Amino acid sequence: MNRLAVAVASTVSAAALAAGPTATAEPSPGKHGAPARHHAPAKVANESARLARSVLNAKGITYATAHQDDTDKASLPKQNLIDVSNGRLARTSPWGHKKGARVALDTKMLNGALKLSTQYHYKFQISEIVGGKHGSHTSKHYTGRAIDVTWINGRHVGEKADHQGFMKACRKLGASKVFGPGDKGHKRHVHCQW
Ligand SMILES: [Zn+2]
Repeated sequence: MNRLAVAVASTVSAAALAAGPTATAEPSPGKHGAPARHHAPAKVANESARLARSVLNAKGITYATAHQDDTDKASLPKQNLIDVSNGRLARTSPWGHKKGARVALDTKMLNGALKLSTQYHYKFQISEIVGGKHGSHTSKHYTGRAIDVTWINGRHVGEKADHQGFMKACRKLGASKVFGPGDKGHKRHVHCQW
């Protein structure tokens, strides 16, 4: 009797041992693999979210509450920042070149917009980030790398606003292309892209 009990017990534990590693081995690759795969993009997304929140909190930055030709709320500039600050992607407008797309916001662009306020102390209004319709399907707006600005320190661009000082600040903050009054299609807004 005792010998039989021992034999059964050892058979059971042998089966448990055999099943054990097999049962736990499967989740392991996923468990260890997942963070490694997602680590880099998550970090970038976290940085974008953090910067988007800082831009939203920056005193002196305001946002257009309508597009030039439409009122689509989901693609307004403030909503772009709210979406990204909440870990989501920013939405383009239904009538632009990238209809209804969801795109990330570039950290260099966000940092530039932030510093225009915190470092250069401009009060300005952003009219578009990824929303609206821009020059072509290759516009950097559609990849979250450009902002349009219509008001600078209480004056509308094209109506005695200091667009030149603002444009210079964009360049100093690393913007690679900057357009404003005097450039085709930019009579009444400044475009800074990173
Ligand atoms: Zn633009």
